[in-house]
Amino acid sequence: MSSEEQSNAAAARRWREAIMPTYGTPGLELASGSGCTVTDAEGNTYLDLLGGIAVAALGHAHPAVASAVSEQITKLGHVSNFYSHEPELRLAERLLQLAGVDGNGRVFFCNSGSEANEAALKIARRTGRPNVVAADRGFHGRTMGALALTGQPEKQTPFEPLPTGVSHVPFGDAAALDEAVDEDTAAIVLEPVQGEAGVIIPPEGYLQSAREIADRNGALLILDEVQTGIGRTGYWFAFQRCGIVPDVITLAKGLGGGLPLGACIGVGRAAFLLEAGQHATTFGGNPVCCAAALAVLHTIESEGLLEHACRVGKEIIAAIERLEHPAVKEVRGLGMLLAVELDGDIAAAAAESARERGYLINPVRPDTLRLAPPLILDEQRANEFVRDLAEVLSEAHGGEGKN
Ligand SMILES: *Cc1c(COP(=O)(O)O)cnc(C)c1O
Repeated sequence: MSSEEQSNAAAARRWREAIMPTYGTPGLELASGSGCTVTDAEGNTYLDLLGGIAVAALGHAHPAVASAVSEQITKLGHVSNFYSHEPELRLAERLLQLAGVDGNGRVFFCNSGSEANEAALKIARRTGRPNVVAADRGFHGRTMGALALTGQPEKQTPFEPLPTGVSHVPFGDAAALDEAVDEDTAAIVLEPVQGEAGVIIPPEGYLQSAREIADRNGALLILDEVQTGIGRTGYWFAFQRCGIVPDVITLAKGLGGGLPLGACIGVGRAAFLLEAGQHATTFGGNPVCCAAALAVLHTIESEGLLEHACRVGKEIIAAIERLEHPAVKEVRGLGMLLAVELDGDIAAAAAESARERGYLINPVRPDTLRLAPPLILDEQRANEFVRDLAEVLSEAHGGEGKN
């Protein structure tokens, strides 16, 4: 191919001619990845500080994932749920152990975060109660049920009517949650940390209050750990920070090491509300995806990546604070799920300027940058990024208002 055909600009033209316009046209065509870096069609290399939106927990082309996937695909690639297989059983058992609910929990495997939340919503419906309470600005996915839970009218309105019975309350406000939940509430659905809303950490005690409110009203507590789970916040699951156990946990993003895999874990009675024949998906628990996930869990554990993510995440926060940059209003996060709130709507400009310097970061809100790097990111790379971030922010800040 000519260099013109393999340029980022050529890819953008072809994208516009072939891909539905649901996403913005990407400015980069990525060709390969290794560890924390990716390389584009023109041979430029970037430090990937978004990790495929909190997916690439072990970075790109991790040898443990690559060999687990290659081995499994040569052995058994797909069987359907008419048959069991070792990777699915082992993964279910391991997830229940890690969540501390072995013996008392059951796993339903699916293919994405939305689909994990669809299963959770069906579990909620099976309580026989009509209503669900979720949080404003929460994000739970784009399929119709998950979209009904998503507390963002701009994403919902074009697709009404949505499944009914869902109301939304301000995130982090235990009194508002208490007010909204009653004996008609089947479930409370929350992210332990709101990811798409800009890495919003609730006040201390909020999830404990949600647990107590759910118990008092006989409702389920469903925690959407699609973004926060699998080590992202420095714990296997973010709820483990708060000393509570939810009734339902949904997972996806980081679970499959880049392969599409979701899971809905039910605990106690919630493990048994979906009965035989009431839910299914063809690819759920696919052997290759499960083998990849087992490699992810094993590597996180054997390489001490929970502690590593906590330490490096804290260091990034401290280093950005030390910049004392006038464009930075707040730096926050847990583990390797971080946000830099900026003084003005300059996040897109900053992300663009970062890209020019070889960093992929995400303008999750107009005024907020999100970092969700691979958990394996080392201190040296992190510090180099923060050093260059000062320039990036100055450029974006100074450019504000110009055109
Ligand atoms: C990304 C995300 C989802 C949706 O997952 P998909 O795999 O895109 O369907 C749901 N909930 C949370 C918290 C997410 O971050």
